[in-house]
Amino acid sequence: MRQSRKLSPRNGGVKPKEMRIISDSSEMQTLANRIRETDLLIGFVPTMGYLHEGHGSLIRGARQQSDIVVLSIFVNPTQFGPAEDLDKYPRDMERDKEIAREAGTDYIFYPEARDIYTSEFQTYVNVEKITKSHCGVSRPTHFRGVATVCTKLFNIVLPHWAFFGQKDYQQCAVIRRMVKDLNMNLEIIVLPTVREADGLAMSSRNVYLTPEERKQATCLYESLQLAKNMVRAGRTDARTILMAMREHIKRKPLASIDYVSIADTDTLQELETIRTEAVALLAVYFGKTRLIDNEILRVM
Ligand code: AMP
Repeated sequence: MRQSRKLSPRNGGVKPKEMRIISDSSEMQTLANRIRETDLLIGFVPTMGYLHEGHGSLIRGARQQSDIVVLSIFVNPTQFGPAEDLDKYPRDMERDKEIAREAGTDYIFYPEARDIYTSEFQTYVNVEKITKSHCGVSRPTHFRGVATVCTKLFNIVLPHWAFFGQKDYQQCAVIRRMVKDLNMNLEIIVLPTVREADGLAMSSRNVYLTPEERKQATCLYESLQLAKNMVRAGRTDARTILMAMREHIKRKPLASIDYVSIADTDTLQELETIRTEAVALLAVYFGKTRLIDNEILRVM
């Protein structure tokens, strides 16, 4: 999977004078159709809100290469399992508006759940093999929700390209697979993970961490760096690298490993030996908070 790319400036990052919020999906789709008729290029950033610098970098990426930037804020119920944090997912629309405006958003699409999922709703998008491993093990219906909502959002916003963060690596792989398999008429662009100063990947869920958990959570990034350095130093057997990663994480008493994996960058199939490149992926619980991260490993 192509990780990230140099953006070709079109708009050059010039910010719009004003930003509009649209909550009706028909209105958004009509507007997107009208924009398309004028040959302007639409860049789209789908999010669940509670924006941080990771989202900001996607908006700025979209701003660089699109005429019109649409950001969606929608806490998508179908991607949450029954025991997950849908109801307490953090929200702050006023702050989100500021960050979105500052990063150069033209339109925020901010629908209500009953608009996206009407009472008659019964159609889901199921990407098969690639959704079963990794996060799909502990979150068996998650990617069905993600694929379904992205399909709907793509059909409403009609983007020429949609921007996703590498932080959610499996999500990117699933969406790319879906776009190819269903001949969807847009390009998926993946931009690098934005991190806190100590390496922790920015995430809306980091607010759930207690101060002590937050301190120990750097073990995700550290173990990925450990893997990267081992591969740089010539180790290519995944089992040894995984063992070192696990040991590093286990040193943190509050961390509980969901999975640590070294996999093919496209298919996410587990690898025994790293030939040219691979992706190291992990998910670690701190209490009920589940953090994910990943890093590309390249043989020098
Ligand atoms: P979310 O609001 O968590 O659903 O994320 C919306 C988009 O932002 C997804 O494409 C994420 O991969 C991306 N994203 C989340 N955190 C980061 C980060 N730290 N760096 C870059 N992109 C991110």
